[in-house]
Amino acid sequence: MTVSVSPSASIAKGRVLIVGATGFIGQFVAEASLDSGRPTYILVRSSNGCGSKATAIKALQDKGALILHGLINDTKLMEKILRDHEIEIVISAVGGENLADQLSLVEAIKAVDTVKRFLPSEFGHDVDRANPVEPGLSMYVEKRKVRRLIEDLGVPYTYICCNSIASWPYHDNTHPSQLLPPLDQFQIYGDGSVKAYFVAGNDIGKFTMKTVDDIRTLNKSVHFRPSCNLYSINELASLWEMKIGRTLPRVTVTENDLLAAAAENRLPQSVVASFTHDIFIKGCQVNFSLDDAHDLDVGNLYPDVSFRNLDECFNDFAIRMGNELVTEDGNSSGNPVVDQPLAIITCA
Ligand code: NDP
Repeated sequence: MTVSVSPSASIAKGRVLIVGATGFIGQFVAEASLDSGRPTYILVRSSNGCGSKATAIKALQDKGALILHGLINDTKLMEKILRDHEIEIVISAVGGENLADQLSLVEAIKAVDTVKRFLPSEFGHDVDRANPVEPGLSMYVEKRKVRRLIEDLGVPYTYICCNSIASWPYHDNTHPSQLLPPLDQFQIYGDGSVKAYFVAGNDIGKFTMKTVDDIRTLNKSVHFRPSCNLYSINELASLWEMKIGRTLPRVTVTENDLLAAAAENRLPQSVVASFTHDIFIKGCQVNFSLDDAHDLDVGNLYPDVSFRNLDECFNDFAIRMGNELVTEDGNSSGNPVVDQPLAIITCA
């Protein structure tokens, strides 16, 4: 008898461990994991526990996340956690300063030998292809080291190359989607014509979770390239002008300006400047095609699943702007707000 198995049925709702769930990208992934109905453990490191971190943990706990405490660089503890909780999928979203900590985690995963998929902290560009100037390059060197150890030890993996988060790409802010797009002037990188892919945070989480139990994504890089969200910075500026109902001055930030900001070596701003140079001057997201068998386009894998349209994401910013401009006594400060009905648009 022949039994047909759907591509995503190979690991039935395996137990997930997420490291970095209190971080910017990790929260999106943890929420998506919980939404997918998988038993979701999050590893939390003890710290002085700032308010926002405690709030993030509580919110995930309320949705059903199971909290574990520890550090990924404690190999023995990680082995015990992986064994005791029968973890099948490990997703790391540690930040730029802690990428090397993942080397111990990879060793632990290899030692227990029961993890079916590891997603290291990538969530950006294809680090084997992109070559930003320093200090961004050093971060990619760390990510490459993690990739090489995974491959050398034969740990099953998926690399998520999700490109840029949907927002105005400020060249000095690591988490630009937490800020409104500009309200005074646009800084346009170079001639403003080089395109990049912008992906909503929830979609980064949603599509990441689709890959974790898909046999087709085993030992592959998965690229997020929604054609509806391919914008140059000139186009992005026009989109925002449409939302706020007025035009803003455009100031050119030249290639040399970005290189100078990178060379200042201020962390993390200079890292972001070097990535901005790589994206909007060198075109690192669009200067290669996915011809290699190792590379998969997430849109081809899940053609029936929509991406949130960038237009809709910018509507959210416009609504936020309206809320933030309402003064404490409840009156509007007189700045423009959006008064058009908001279209809900998605793209596959
Ligand atoms: P954050 O700095 O926001 O969060 C890092 C998380 O990792 C925190 O939860 C932190 O815990 C946890 N962590 C760090 N070290 C350890 C450790 N040794 N053991 C356990 N937990 C640890 O990271 P980001 O979200 O900014 O970055 C995550 C990934 O996403 C990176 O690879 C980054 O390059 C990428 N990224 C991509 C973006 C894009 O636009 N595509 C934008 C931003 C990031 P604690 O809460 O205790 O600090």
